[in-house]
Amino acid sequence: MSKPKVLKSGEFLVDEIQANDIFIPEEFNEEQLMIAQTIQDFLDTEVYPQLDQIDTGDISLMRDIMKKSGELGLMGISIPEEYGGFGQSFVTQMLAAERVGAGYSFSVAFMAHCGIGTLPIMYYGNEYQRQHYVTKLASGEFIGAYCLTEPGAGSDANAGKTHATLSEDEKHYILNGSKMWITNANFADIQTVFAKIGNDRVLSAFIVERNYPGVVVNPDEKKMGIKGSSTAQIFYNDVKVPVENLVGERGEGFRIALTILHMGRLKLGANVLGASKKSINDSVRYAIDRKQFNASISTFGAIKYKLAEQVIKTFALESAIYRVSADIDNQILLNKANGNDPGRATIEGISFYAVEAAILKVYGSEVLDYVVDEGVQIHGGMGYSAEMHIEKAYRDSRINRIFEGTNEINRLLVLDTAMKKAMKGEYDLFGPAEKAFAEIDNLTDGKVAGEGYYAEKLRYLRNFKKAALLAIHAANKAFGKQFIREQEVMNNLTNMIMETYISECVALRVEKMESMKGAETVSLYKDMLNVYLYDAASLIRKQGMDAVNAFASSDEEANTLSKAIETLTTVAGVNTKEARRRIADKLIEEQVYKF
Ligand SMILES: Cc1cc2nc3c(=O)[nH]c(=O)nc-3n(C[C@H](O)[C@H](O)[C@H](O)COP(=O)(O)OP(=O)(O)OC[C@H]3O[C@@H](n4cnc5c(N)ncnc54)[C@H](O)[C@@H]3O)c2cc1C
Repeated sequence: MSKPKVLKSGEFLVDEIQANDIFIPEEFNEEQLMIAQTIQDFLDTEVYPQLDQIDTGDISLMRDIMKKSGELGLMGISIPEEYGGFGQSFVTQMLAAERVGAGYSFSVAFMAHCGIGTLPIMYYGNEYQRQHYVTKLASGEFIGAYCLTEPGAGSDANAGKTHATLSEDEKHYILNGSKMWITNANFADIQTVFAKIGNDRVLSAFIVERNYPGVVVNPDEKKMGIKGSSTAQIFYNDVKVPVENLVGERGEGFRIALTILHMGRLKLGANVLGASKKSINDSVRYAIDRKQFNASISTFGAIKYKLAEQVIKTFALESAIYRVSADIDNQILLNKANGNDPGRATIEGISFYAVEAAILKVYGSEVLDYVVDEGVQIHGGMGYSAEMHIEKAYRDSRINRIFEGTNEINRLLVLDTAMKKAMKGEYDLFGPAEKAFAEIDNLTDGKVAGEGYYAEKLRYLRNFKKAALLAIHAANKAFGKQFIREQEVMNNLTNMIMETYISECVALRVEKMESMKGAETVSLYKDMLNVYLYDAASLIRKQGMDAVNAFASSDEEANTLSKAIETLTTVAGVNTKEARRRIADKLIEEQVYKF
């Protein structure tokens, strides 16, 4: 078999791959499915029966559950064997994150520990730090936290005032300052704290043990959701941190913080996928049971629409999650083959896909918000009652658009990072964009007689890409260096890019499913693809038009660009009503998300 073609981050905008080049969830092996099942069993036995008590903010209960998950080995999935873990692939880590994501507050505490609380030390720490701390974090003996945000430094993370001064005997850094919104703060043993040394302009990273004198943790914040996770402010008052606890090099902290956030964004995408599936299951079961007008509400078209939309968006997110995860595994292997230290090879493989990480974070968190919002609606008044899981899911969902970089920041990052990668010469974005612009007067939708089902979809995708490239080129020309200040337009362009990428993931997945399992097994998946592309086309068109109207210097320019975008986003009509009904009926038949 030929090796799959792998694209660089963001390169999907200017290049194509075949369906066989991507990894799809239908290819999970038995070991991966077993890990997923173990996590599901853990949620069923240790988390779900105690959800109400967890939500009272009982942190000793949360700590106990965390310990149990550590004893079961769940905290070591991302950690190499030599540090007490199981060294699983990134795809497996993401599958595990997906399953954990259905665990409400437990998911947030667990993911903060295993991800941002452990991995800075794993990936950037030295051998002593890995042996001393990572082994205990992997077993759950220690719980970890990540301390970046400060009262005056949220999105602008490098603006923090917490500082470290080398002691006269050069054995310690003396740490002063405070951190805010720290997950696991009230039971974490180990904190990775970001602070500036002396007059440095960039951050460094330190391992701080909670019992060092001068570390003071406030009581937990009272939050809208994820009430069972500990979130608090931490103060550092002349805390003596041994010099051996500096992670990486002096001044490397900001880079560490950012690369770890790329990983956090990807894992958040997987978490919200698991949370979406759980809320779909709750929604469909309620819809089946609830009778009004002498019928189950699941028989009503308005409810079927919601159920189908929940499924389609979740399926789309899932398609993207595992495509990116396998790309990252490939990149990690490549980095290792090039002789990089395994820790660095891994985190650099992960952060290489920064464009896709930001897409998954934004897209995933907004999918979950849609799913839980319509989930509450399907539950009617009961959706507003704390008795139901969907009420908790609704409140818990909201944080995902805020942490790991807000969706506003991540939307800006998608376009900005793609353009920076192109400017660095990783791939040619501006050449194809210029070409699309040069051909604007002769644009057609490219339709050819007798084109097959997937060829048609591929053509749509090519056109969506061209529409995004056109808009990028025209905006770049109009704004020049001021582009970065035109956030509304950047958002329009990111939305075009994001919908194009997700559309491509769905199309390639369905095509690959067909080649694996046969055409007769994918008709429902084709329904999903048809609806998805139909909606994506109008979304991309609207975003493109909004962008163009914001910068066109004349009516003529606006008309030319708008016409081109319209041509490139023209897709055949779809009976979305019937397609959604078929999807909803399948969900109702299974009573559980099983796609
Ligand atoms: C429950 C919870 C848990 C958390 N856990 C942790 C943790 O474990 N560790 C940690 O370090 N932090 C943690 N955080 C902090 C979180 O990462 C920050 O809240 C987040 O980065 C946003 O910062 P901020 O709250 O200061 O918002 P701000 O940065 O003040 O943003 C306010 C609004 O302005 C927008 N905005 C800001 N800058 C720009 C810009 N340049 N362009 C456009 N819009 C902009 C934002 O998108 C947002 O809508 C947590 C937060 C919460 C609520």
